[in-house]
Amino acid sequence: MHIAICGGTFDPFHRGHLEPVLHARESMQWDRVIYVPAWKQPFKQDRDTASGFHRFAMAVLATRDYDWMFVSDIELQRGGTSYSVDTLAELRALYADAQFDWIIGEDNVAQLPQWREPERLFAMARFVVLTRGESAHQTADSRIVFAKTPPIPVSSTEIRRRVRAGEPIDAFVDPLVARYIQHNGLYKEGTA
Ligand code: ATP
Repeated sequence: MHIAICGGTFDPFHRGHLEPVLHARESMQWDRVIYVPAWKQPFKQDRDTASGFHRFAMAVLATRDYDWMFVSDIELQRGGTSYSVDTLAELRALYADAQFDWIIGEDNVAQLPQWREPERLFAMARFVVLTRGESAHQTADSRIVFAKTPPIPVSSTEIRRRVRAGEPIDAFVDPLVARYIQHNGLYKEGTA
């Protein structure tokens, strides 16, 4: 089985988390994509997020149409700082015969060498960078591959800003996610 993992804060889950993955799957032939909401991202320690429960729920709502997409609570259950190397080790124990790709957006690629235990990490998974670059290509060691995807110019930061400002977010998130945010009063005044 070929499994792709996409980690993130997903605060909230938006089109930029879904659509590039749908596109990349056409060439990558993943049997499953597992979204893994982080408890605490190593590089985003300073910000309060919506609860893990809310972030998990929004990811489930947004991926409901795809029976090959899953949302895992593995990092929420583990707590502490969420290191991908720990998550991969756990998932490899669960799916003993699987081959793993770790999906990241282009904005994260420069930081990769600073991830915890990069050598162990690269031994356990190949990294697939979703890029708006001209063409898909591979690095020499083939542990990092680039998949060209159409750019979706949206970020969770921008969505939270819009909610605070009372601006619509319908163009950026699934309708059920928009409704969930509204019903639960997420991202109102005083939150980052
Ligand atoms: P924030 O604005 O709060 O920093 P974000 O929108 O960048 O959040 P994350 O939850 O940090 O979202 O991202 C999870 C993963 O999705 C990361 O690998 C990130 O690079 C990728 N990603 C986020 N937004 C996009 C986008 N618009 N297009 C492609 N990939 C994206």
